[in-house]
Formats: sequence, C-alpha cells, structure tokens
Amino acid sequence: MSDCIFCKIVEGELPSKKVYEDNEVVAFYDIEPAAPIHVLIIPKKHFASLNEATDEDWAVIGQVQKAAQQIAQELGVAESGYRVVTNCGANAGQIVHHLHYHFLAGAKLAPLGVAN
Ligand code: 5GP
Ligand code: ZN
Repeated sequence: MSDCIFCKIVEGELPSKKVYEDNEVVAFYDIEPAAPIHVLIIPKKHFASLNEATDEDWAVIGQVQKAAQQIAQELGVAESGYRVVTNCGANAGQIVHHLHYHFLAGAKLAPLGVAN
C-alpha cells in the first residue's frame, strides 16, 4: 500500500527505531508513547486490521505474539508485566489501518475499559 505509513516503515522509506525484526514481522517504538515502553509490532504484509485477516495470516499473527514474548525479555519487562493489544475500527480508536499490536510496559497500566 503506497500511502500506508507502516508499509513505508517496513520498506525503510520512513525512519523508525526498531527493536525486533524477522522475515515476517517488525517492531519499532511508537512515535507518541502512551507508556514508558511503547512498541508497535506489525506484520510486514499489509492488511488493515484483524477484520481483514485471512486464513493465511494467522501464522504471522502468532509470530507477532512470539515477537512480543521476545521483546519483553529483551527489554527486561517479562517479569514486571506488559500488555499486547490491537485496536480494530473506530470504537477502538484505530488510526493507522495496517494491523499493529501495541506493546505497553514500564509502569502500572490503566485498567481496560470505556473512555470517559
Ligand atoms: P492506533 O490508534 O491506530 O491503534 O495506533 C497507531 C499508533 O501509531 C499510535 O500510537 C501512533 O502514535 C503511532 N504512529 C503513528 N504514526 C507513526 C509513525 O510515523 N511512526 C511511529 N513509530 N509510530 C507512529
Ligand atoms: Zn501497510
């Protein structure tokens, strides 16, 4: 997708601070961190959200979870705790329409729930 910022990060056309990369997945620090540690983990393949995932995509979504486990260990938060979450659609606040998982850690996180 030529107009997708995360595809541009995958292609190296936009800069990012990477923390993890393999053949299918890349992870990099969020530009506007919502926690002391805020990493975005994405499949290199473009699809907009969980809604658009097809049978061939479940393996890479598993790879994203595996990357999260590895990132937690490498950043030293496996024991203290972390959250991995994806926003899908308007009510979840999805802004970038390339599937991504937020990896949040480094402090006690707010409970999940409905916005005020
Ligand atoms: P969403 O609300 O779509 O789940 O989250 C999109 C996330 O992407 C936001 O946390 C936002 O700060 C992050 N983001 C948007 N543009 C860029 C960018 O160009 N580089 C990086 N590293 N993060 C970005
Ligand atoms: Zn994309």
